[in-house]
Amino acid sequence: MTDIGLMFKSLKLAWIPRLLSSGKKNWCTVPDHYFRKIGGLIFLLRCNYNVKYFDRLPVFYKTTLESFSELKTLYGYDQLQVLVLFNNKDILVGGRPVYLHEWFERGVVLVKDLLNESVKFLTFKESSDKYRYPTNFLQYYQVISAIPIRFLIKTKDIVALDKLFFTSGDEIFKFNDNVEIHLDKARSKDFYKLLNSKTHTGNHSGPTRWSKRLSLNEDAWSNIFRSLKTVCKENKLREFHFKFMHRIIETKRELLKFDIKNDKESLYCGQSDSIEHTFIECTFTKTFVSI
Ligand SMILES: [Zn+2]
Repeated sequence: MTDIGLMFKSLKLAWIPRLLSSGKKNWCTVPDHYFRKIGGLIFLLRCNYNVKYFDRLPVFYKTTLESFSELKTLYGYDQLQVLVLFNNKDILVGGRPVYLHEWFERGVVLVKDLLNESVKFLTFKESSDKYRYPTNFLQYYQVISAIPIRFLIKTKDIVALDKLFFTSGDEIFKFNDNVEIHLDKARSKDFYKLLNSKTHTGNHSGPTRWSKRLSLNEDAWSNIFRSLKTVCKENKLREFHFKFMHRIIETKRELLKFDIKNDKESLYCGQSDSIEHTFIECTFTKTFVSI
């Protein structure tokens, strides 16, 4: 069954590829303007962001980014995003994440860019001499005092941390070693697949209950599910087949529960009705099947 909640999320996520390949169309002027001010959408997606700080971004794009962040969490995305200095929810200056374009342009992207070889912060003079960015003493110290000490320790432990990974604008987004997505051409069904495979990990309850009665193993079920597309051309019958597999067909038993019928007696034999009765036990069904 389609998970409606996940479907909504996937439909919104599919706007990421549209935003990335929109060129300079009018409809994306607002999000483009916003994302440009924080380093661009591709860079932002690789940052440790939190949408609660995106006050001026329209709610639609905010929820899209929130769903993307959820996707990163589901796949245990790490890629050391916490060590990116900008748009980082854990590095707050005046209660907000920072993005300093002049710094970014001159190559200051990661926490380690502000450290010397002995993992100590560069002094204001050292950093100004190194990057020659237009900053002042106050701003510099505001930023470095916002960086939690644990990030310094983490930086120390990480030998290879290539800032190009964050800044190259690569449209292939790797969630982990095995899962990646092409941000420029992914469609909502790709996002749905990603969300679905992490959200619904248990067996379907319908097939599990059928298995108890009919002793069908996993292979048999995969064949039954695969047969959905080929079993029949008639959509109504396909729908019935699908509902039957998931045990969501109403018999009189369910109708009584919903107060639509006054009893749960089988239409054909008068015995107590249920999905098992209608399709397996009922004498009428048995006769019908044996014809
Ligand atoms: Zn019956």
